Amino acid sequence: MQVVDTVHAMQRMSDGLRANGKTVGLVPTMGFLHEGHLSLVAQSCEDNDTTVVSIFINPTQFGPSEDYEQYPRDFERDCSLLQSHAVDVVFNPGVDEMYPSGYATYVEATGVLTEGLCGASRPGHFRGVTTVVTKLLNIVKPHRVYFGRKDAQQLAVIRRMAADLNLDVEIIPMPIVRESDGLAMSSRNRYLSSEERKAALVLHRSLQYAEAQIAAGERDATKLRSEIEARIEAEPLARVDYVEIVHQQTLETLRSLHGPVMIALAVFIGRTRLIDNLQLTV
Ligand code: AMP
Repeated sequence: MQVVDTVHAMQRMSDGLRANGKTVGLVPTMGFLHEGHLSLVAQSCEDNDTTVVSIFINPTQFGPSEDYEQYPRDFERDCSLLQSHAVDVVFNPGVDEMYPSGYATYVEATGVLTEGLCGASRPGHFRGVTTVVTKLLNIVKPHRVYFGRKDAQQLAVIRRMAADLNLDVEIIPMPIVRESDGLAMSSRNRYLSSEERKAALVLHRSLQYAEAQIAAGERDATKLRSEIEARIEAEPLARVDYVEIVHQQTLETLRSLHGPVMIALAVFIGRTRLIDNLQLTV
């Protein structure tokens, strides 16, 4: 496994692979890898001749009062996990390599896709995401790029950007990987105390409740949304950031539960903000 830390070296390596007719898969991550990340890696290794995993904690997608400094890092552990998954290349640039002095260009998707849900509570977040993903695609030049459905809004925004900018890459969405008790895996779960870790189950449980209600015939999205919110608020350590019921692709708010539905949550457990979602076709 090769570790590449400059843009130039990564671009030349990808040029060489493409010239030799090899397919390239990219898995963008911020490191501190878990089974969720590794499911994307495994799929890329299956689909492509070469898999590149990027590890880059992107400062432009964090707000000034967010956890950029505290975000967990363990590059050695990440590398040994990737090595055991037979990954070919780890792209691990420094911040100055990605945003050198004088950097001034951003890619931004506008409108409902980026304004609601996480966009409302994390202004500028998606501008940072679309900018770094565009840069990574230009640097790694993959045939396929892998994203988890856990970050469902991110996936919708990137799909829109790829269509709007005619990006020549196939976007592969991957299912949410959960702990055995249902908590969606996340690098941020490590911030939780043991009491908070138990309280965090309220996210998945409230989505399971919603799924059961829909299966029993509930079609009133406004009513279901309030019920989910009440269930989360009943957990003393939890505070709702948002509960939204939206169309899976457009992210427009739904009043009735029909078609491709997504129930998306962001919840503070203590000081840790966790997200989760349920996607189903009603
Ligand atoms: P991150 O390192 O948090 O930026 O995540 C990198 C990629 O892994 C993103 O495409 C995430 O959606 C995906 N990912 C993170 N957690 C999970 C999970 N629990 N299940 C599936 N994919 C995930």
